[in-house]
Amino acid sequence: MIGLVLVSHSAILAQGVVEIVEQMVQGRVPLATAGGTDNVDAPIGTDPFKVKAAIDAVYSEDGVVVLIDLGSALMSAETALELLPDERQAHVVLCGAPLVEGAVAAAVRIMTGGSLQEVLDDARAAYAAKNVQLTSLLHLPAEGTAANAAGAAAGAAASAAGPALLLTIVVPNRLGLHARPAARLVSLAAQYDALVTLAHGTRTAAATSMNQVATLGVRQGDLLVVSAAGPQAEDALDAIEALALDNFGDPIVVTEPAAIIAATSEPDDPDELSGVAAAEGIAFGAAFVYRAQLPQVEEIVGADAVHERRRLEQAIAAVTEHLQSVRINMLQRVGASEASIFDAHLLMVRDTDLLQSALQEIELRRVNAEAAWQRAIQAMANRYRALPDPYMARRADDILDVGQRVLRVLSGASQDETGPLLTEAAILVAHELKPSDLARVEPELVLGIITELGSASDHSAILARALGLPAVTGVGPFLGRVENGQILALDGSAGCVWLTPDAEQLAELERKGERWAKERASAKQSAQRPAVMRDGWRILVEANINGPSDVAQALDQGAEGVGLFRTEYLFMDRVTPPSEQEQVETYRAVALRLKGRPLVVRTLDVGGDKPLPYIRSAYEANPFLGQRGLRYSLDRPAVFKPQLRAILRVAAEHPVKLMFPMVSTFDELVLVDALIEEACAELQAEGLPFDDDIARGIMIETPAAVMAADYLARLVDFFSIGTNDLAQYMMAADRSNAAVANLVTAFQPAVIRSIHQVVSAAQKAGIVVSLCGELAGDPRATALLVGLGINELSMSAPSIPAVKARVRQLNLEQSQRLASELLTYESATDVEQRLSE
Ligand code: PEP
Ligand code: MG
Repeated sequence: MIGLVLVSHSAILAQGVVEIVEQMVQGRVPLATAGGTDNVDAPIGTDPFKVKAAIDAVYSEDGVVVLIDLGSALMSAETALELLPDERQAHVVLCGAPLVEGAVAAAVRIMTGGSLQEVLDDARAAYAAKNVQLTSLLHLPAEGTAANAAGAAAGAAASAAGPALLLTIVVPNRLGLHARPAARLVSLAAQYDALVTLAHGTRTAAATSMNQVATLGVRQGDLLVVSAAGPQAEDALDAIEALALDNFGDPIVVTEPAAIIAATSEPDDPDELSGVAAAEGIAFGAAFVYRAQLPQVEEIVGADAVHERRRLEQAIAAVTEHLQSVRINMLQRVGASEASIFDAHLLMVRDTDLLQSALQEIELRRVNAEAAWQRAIQAMANRYRALPDPYMARRADDILDVGQRVLRVLSGASQDETGPLLTEAAILVAHELKPSDLARVEPELVLGIITELGSASDHSAILARALGLPAVTGVGPFLGRVENGQILALDGSAGCVWLTPDAEQLAELERKGERWAKERASAKQSAQRPAVMRDGWRILVEANINGPSDVAQALDQGAEGVGLFRTEYLFMDRVTPPSEQEQVETYRAVALRLKGRPLVVRTLDVGGDKPLPYIRSAYEANPFLGQRGLRYSLDRPAVFKPQLRAILRVAAEHPVKLMFPMVSTFDELVLVDALIEEACAELQAEGLPFDDDIARGIMIETPAAVMAADYLARLVDFFSIGTNDLAQYMMAADRSNAAVANLVTAFQPAVIRSIHQVVSAAQKAGIVVSLCGELAGDPRATALLVGLGINELSMSAPSIPAVKARVRQLNLEQSQRLASELLTYESATDVEQRLSE
């Protein structure tokens, strides 16, 4: 027969519920309680071992239903579940029904021979029934899992804030609601005056709690019921729906992280280990074995609750502030995507659910802040670990990481443990490395990284790659066989580690490393020379970048500047827009790394296929023909002006030009000019230095801009032709639609003629014209473009060496003749054929 367990902070309360239940079932149902603690000084609380004992007492393979009262009772019950053997765990269910009504309904159903599902349904129905009585307007859908989830979500939202509206979402993104999408959802929900609740199966979560949302365990394809009540309920649901339609902000096409695959064959040598090839490169040298020092926590009972509460809140505030600065630091070092890991950490540490659990411990059990926080963190980490999705389960490490920072502050230590991780060059060896550990290393001192745990997709591996550190992760237990200073070797491309490399192996690795380095060096060598044609005509070859972390690679490949900085990446993969100051720091970081080379900063190019989930936009039937690029920015001065101010400020110190995407009318440029004037006046009044004569340019991407190039040229200092969009709009063919891919090519005669027309207009007006679409990086097109009069090409960095080499083979007059010939062609195929000759 199914057993019933009642978990309560109070032994008396648990016994009282038993008394009520027994009135109905008269000893015919196996009942056990786990109420209070065994600590005479602090009897109020819950104890996982007591919960486990109660489960064991009524255990049956028919099942055990566990009902709990408030807060940390859930965590104790979850921990108790973990203490059970696997085969028992599968038969025990934690039920979210209220203690009294749920216990009565469940017991009666057990007594009448109901199945485990029926018992759970009846217990939960008791919850819904109570809510229906309280909120007569509550709408509950008919049946099934979605109905249960909807009932739970609506009940939770409506009971507190009036009638609830519901939205059902099938979660589209590949990893489900993992840390970053969960963070986006939580930040979005917080922007509305609405009580938003999520339900997934039988579990519910407040949409304001990062940890509750992430531990719902929502995977791709799962049904998520969102319920909202309150004045802005409808807006909140619309925004959440838009976020879901945007794949919860995740990239649509996710490249499998294991490009990066663990070595497949088992090596013969026991000192040769294989793991995950997490970041390419070869390294050998002395080992530095890193062992994280976990703070020791002593439980003190009888503490002053008000004082402990204040200490805990202050420690959390200190960690929040510190994580914000770590985030900015990572943003400058490796880019927005990697830095957004710390957005999730920030939401985890500020999570109200976590704080409430700890505060309940402080208030009910009178324990010190350290012990209360440690317990709450541990329980939360267990909740993450229990998730079936291994990716989500590994987020337990993130919770422990941020949790330990708070403990270190409480103990008066530095939150970053003790100073830098390494003081001299070494191979960093660890059980595992957390993002915050890697934030503490000077990349120059790390020869390579080897860890026992970890995958190619965890945050530390992502950071290692971004920092260019060779790394092998997930090697399995080996730390016991490594001493500090021991010479190790690793091949990050093959996922191999040598614990005791002999002279021959080291020599072979050295040769391999040298070969690898030589190949890269020779490609770079000629790329550093300018691109001068045979008759002395020089073409400026620049890079397209997405952020500061791309500059080093661009310069390595021979970029002579940046012809297109796509700033939208700074706005993406995060939950709020970057502040003006953050933008200043990012643009400045790029300019500093360019060391005086030219930099063209393009303003935000979102909309169309790149919406920003945290900024509300109206539904558009044809987003590519809607509010994209400059249109989007002009409609949102609160986002646009801070960007203009940031660019103007950095332009006072560095050779920065300003460029606008997707321009179609003269009037748009007049509006832009007025906004720039406004920004300049403000900066002047605030006494902040800025460039009042910044060079302004526009992307030529629309047929309107081509046709109007002569008069648009009067308002700007340069044009940059964006052939990716120009081909799309000129050919009226969506650049993301494979069915019309043959039309969307810049080799179409209509596109070539457009380029010709734009160059002529620019030459007539005496302004510079460059080209930054993908066509610029195709060496087949170089002669045509140079012949048409383009003197500046900007492209993705890896294309630079080949294009420079191609320029050196050409001479201007021949290129001009070729361009004139191609302007007479009627078919893209013929153009491509001629250029391939
Ligand atoms: C273009 O359209 O050619 C261009 C360079 O801009 P993006 O690819 O960013 O739209
Ligand atoms: Mg474009």
